[in-house]
Amino acid sequence: MIPRFLCDEMNGDVARWLRIMGFDCKYIIGDNLDEKLIEICRREGRVLITSDVELSIRASSRGIRCILTNGLNRSQKLRKIIDTYGLKDYIGRKFRCPKCNTILKKVNTDDIIDKIPLYVVETYDHVWECKGCGKIYWEGSHWRNISEYIEKLLSSR
Ligand SMILES: [Zn+2]
Repeated sequence: MIPRFLCDEMNGDVARWLRIMGFDCKYIIGDNLDEKLIEICRREGRVLITSDVELSIRASSRGIRCILTNGLNRSQKLRKIIDTYGLKDYIGRKFRCPKCNTILKKVNTDDIIDKIPLYVVETYDHVWECKGCGKIYWEGSHWRNISEYIEKLLSSR
C-alpha cells in the first residue's frame, strides 16, 4: 500500500514535490504543532516527514513512522522517501495539486474554454484541473522541467 505523508514546516518543498509526483501529503505550519502532527499521523496513518530530531524520536516512540530529513537537500530528501517506501514505480500514476493536495482531474480544453488562455486551448487537447482550489495546469515548459527533475532524481545515486 502506498503510504500517505505529513510534512512539517521545514519540508514544504518536499510536500509540493510529493504531490506533483502523485502522493498524498498534508502540510501544516504554525507554532507548537508537535502534538498535533503526531495526532494527525496516528489518526490518519500518515508517515511524518520532519527535520526535527526530537520530534522524530517522540513520534517513533508512539508508533508513528518517520522520515528524518535534517541535513539533507531537497533531492536527497525525496530520494530517501522514495527509496524507503519503494515508491519509484508509483510516481506519476496520479497528479495532485501542489498547492492543496487534491487529485487533479483531466479535462478537455474545449470544456473549460472560458477558464484558460486561448493559446492553451489551441495547443493542448486536455489540461488538469484542481477541483479543490480551482487552479488549472497544462503540459508546458514548466511540466517538462518537472519531468526532467524527477528523472534526474531517480537516476542519481
Ligand atoms: Zn488545488
